[in-house]
Order: sequence, then structure tokens, then C-alpha cells
Amino acid sequence: MLNSFPKSLYLHIPFCKRRCFYCDFAITTGGENLKQQYVDVLCQEIELTVTAIPPVETLQTIFFGGGTPSLLSVKQVEQILETIAKYFAIAPNAEISLEANAGTVSIESLQGYRSLGINRISIGAQAFQQELLDICGRGHSVKEIYEAVDAIEKAGFENFNLDLISGLPHQSMADWEFSLKEAIALQPKHLSVYDLTIEEETAFAKRYRAGDQPLPTDESTAAMYLAAHELLSTTGYQHYEISNYARSGYQIQHNLTYWHNQPFYGMGMGATSYINRQRIDRPRKMREYLDAVSQWQREGTGFTAPIVDDAEELMDSLMQGLRLAEGMSLNLLQSKYGQELCDRALQVLDRYRDKHWVNFIKQPEEQSEDIRIFLVSPQGWLFSDMIISDLYEQLLPEVAIAKTDSSHH
Ligand code: SF4
Repeated sequence: MLNSFPKSLYLHIPFCKRRCFYCDFAITTGGENLKQQYVDVLCQEIELTVTAIPPVETLQTIFFGGGTPSLLSVKQVEQILETIAKYFAIAPNAEISLEANAGTVSIESLQGYRSLGINRISIGAQAFQQELLDICGRGHSVKEIYEAVDAIEKAGFENFNLDLISGLPHQSMADWEFSLKEAIALQPKHLSVYDLTIEEETAFAKRYRAGDQPLPTDESTAAMYLAAHELLSTTGYQHYEISNYARSGYQIQHNLTYWHNQPFYGMGMGATSYINRQRIDRPRKMREYLDAVSQWQREGTGFTAPIVDDAEELMDSLMQGLRLAEGMSLNLLQSKYGQELCDRALQVLDRYRDKHWVNFIKQPEEQSEDIRIFLVSPQGWLFSDMIISDLYEQLLPEVAIAKTDSSHH
């Protein structure tokens, strides 16, 4: 079964001033002299991609993610957007986002980005206590968060997001509530609230073990999750996705592409694309990425990956779609993946119904009597890892076993 054509484009900008202690993203630090070369190669990848897969749809979203895309000059962002505009139709009201870090933006740079059509800025704030920012190895101060938001407003952006992290070492509930309140006071249209995960090979993984002091206990991180839900839901933010809150009409359209498991272009070092049922990861190291694009240029060997089969695609759809408050249409799942596979997934979901973590609701207004399946907010979302891992065991047992094995290493 062919899926539709992408309407979203992700561009990875892998430069950071330093590596935060919890971060395992594909980034490079100190790549100042590499930036222009990277931008040129990224533009080459855009050209090679459209030659291999000519665009069909108008782009509705473009996302500059990182890394720290705000380390690129206005001119470099312009070069990338001009290359895109050469080959793609871009919707006049397209959502064009750029991730930025406090301490890397000014009114002038933001005005410059805005003049290029960027209309959404996402700032990694993470916490509003200097001690916590230092513990995380963040390269900015609390004061710089306020300055960045001030500059965003002065540059004329009305849509911006703040990222926050709960479950940090030494973070108390009082710290967490203070961070949430400070963030709300800055009136972002969107807030992303993540729970810290200790990723392998990070500085945090060497220092801390999940569940051990000074990391908050599982009970405390669950309480932090519920506190965020309570505070933000009562201050005008819709908890529309497991980790995301928005004012009405400001849900991030780009990520909705992922959560609806729709295809998207992804370009740049470490980026993933999902086109024609191929989920393709690019090299995560700078040299390997640059070499791969130049080899593609010379020899016509583009990035490829095996075709995702029905069970994998259903699993991806459930993993993404159950993150959303709106849930998923059972009719749609059955028409795409067939009754038998869907019944297997439903057996698992049904087990969690009695606990009130999962719900099935009939949509009476729909002639077809569609049923929507969703995790109950916020309780079901707290246990989503458990539900997803059960779905893996049911739909993709070989992957579930591989995951368990690798987590023991
Ligand atoms: S700024 Fe973001 S991408 Fe860069 S190192 Fe820190 S967490 Fe990772």
C-alpha cells in the first residue's frame, strides 16, 4: 500500500556551542568553520532529493531543528530557504519553525529570520533555576531566557514555544512549579514539557542512574507530570499531546505530521525521512554525512532503507497516534491495515480499558459509526510506555525481544 506524498520538510542543523550533559542528539560542537560547507551540502541534498523524488504536494510545514539552528546566520538560513523555494511550492500560510537557544539570538537576527518567512520560534528554556541549568550543562543563563523571549516579541513573532524538562537531578517539585509558572508568565503560544530520559553515552549516564538520588523518584516525576497537566490546563493551554500544550489553534502542525504517521522529507546530518514507506536515517557523524552526499552526487547512490511492512506501520501509527488527545480512528486503521492486525492490537488495548488508561468512544455523528481509540489524559499517558511495549510484543515480537536485549547491555 502506497502512502501519500510529503507536505512537511525537516532540516537538521547540527551545531551547538557545547553539548548539554543529557543530550544524545546528532550534533557537533565547535564546527564554526564547517557551517558554510554544511549549508552548501544540505542544499545539495535538497537538489538531489527532488531529482530522485519530484515533489507532488505543496509544503505546509518546514522545520529547522537541531542542534541550534539559530547559530546559522540569516544569510545561511536564506540560502536554504531559497533552495527549497526553487524546487517546492510552499503554501502561503505554511508554518515555518526555527529552533533557537537563549544566548544565541538578538532582535536583529530574529527580525532577519522573520523577514525570510519564519513564523514560529522554539526556545529551549528547560528550567528557570541557574543551578539546574548549570547541572544540565546548558550554555545559557536564566536571564538570557527572558532576554530571548523579549527579543522574539520585539522582532514581531507572535507564535513561539518554550521547552521545559522535568525529572532533572536535584529538581524539587517547588523548582518545577516555579519553572512552569515563569514559563506561563512569558505567554508562549505553545509549551513542550519533557520528562528527562537518561540516554546511554551521555555525561548524565556516567553520573546518574534512573531512579537513584539525586534524580527524582518515579513517583516524583509522575507527580511533576500531573502538576504540569493541572497547572497548564487551568491556564488556557490544551494538553493535546503527551508532552505538548498549546493555546487554541497553535498546535504544532509540523509535529502533527509525525503524530499522524504521515510521510515527510528529512534532510541533513542524522535526519530521518519517511517517504514511500521507507524510513531512512542519515549518518549521525558530520564527515560521514558530507561524504554520503558527495557520493550520491558522484555515483547517484541516494539514501535507502527497507520498506516498512504493515505490522511495523501499524505499530508506528499506534505509537504516534496514541500520543494525541484526539486519539485515532479505528475505521481508518482497519481500512489501512486490515481487520486481523487491528484485532491483535485491540486485544492489548482492551486490557487497559478497565484501568481507565485506554478508552474507545463511538462517534455518533459519523455515518460509519467510527470508533476513536485514545489513552485517557493524563492517567493513560503516564503509563504509555507500558502500553506501547505490550503492543510491540503483540505486533512485532522480534523487535520487542531485540529492545529488551539491548537495554541489558
Ligand atoms: S542545545 Fe539542544 S541539541 Fe544542542 S546539545 Fe543542548 S540539548 Fe542537545
